[in-house]
Amino acid sequence: MILISACLVGVDCRYDGGSKRIDEIEKLVKEGKAILVCPEQLGGLPTPRIPCEIKDGDGSKVLEKGARVLNKEGEDLTDSFVKGAEETLKIAALYGVKKAILKARSPSCGKNRIYDGSFQKLLIDGDGVTAALLKKHGILVLDEEDFREYIEKEY
Ligand code: SF4
Repeated sequence: MILISACLVGVDCRYDGGSKRIDEIEKLVKEGKAILVCPEQLGGLPTPRIPCEIKDGDGSKVLEKGARVLNKEGEDLTDSFVKGAEETLKIAALYGVKKAILKARSPSCGKNRIYDGSFQKLLIDGDGVTAALLKKHGILVLDEEDFREYIEKEY
């Protein structure tokens, strides 16, 4: 079973109330090969919501309590992001998930590259909070830009 960011299959759970549907990813769900999560909703955040970025680090640092997740108005939502990551991990464990396809650049779901906390569309190296927690527990995290290489081989 593959864990998938719900916004990648047309669920309107993004901060702006929209989604970014990708047909090939939706196909995995329709074929019963994938389950959906939205970590930010699982963490109790509303939709739509004010955009958030990680300040002073990435998701790993947030999990170590060395960085925070702030919304554009400066409100600290770190606890909600950590809660969302933990709930996502719980779901992943229940389904025996080994791979995830998550939305690139999100402060929750992004892998390897995320926004830098300045809200200026600047990217830095690092993972979102959920991506970091899943990686820490041995789950291979892919995104909508590189999943084809891994998924087509096996499915
Ligand atoms: S990127 Fe992740 S947290 Fe953001 S809307 Fe999509 S599934 Fe939810």
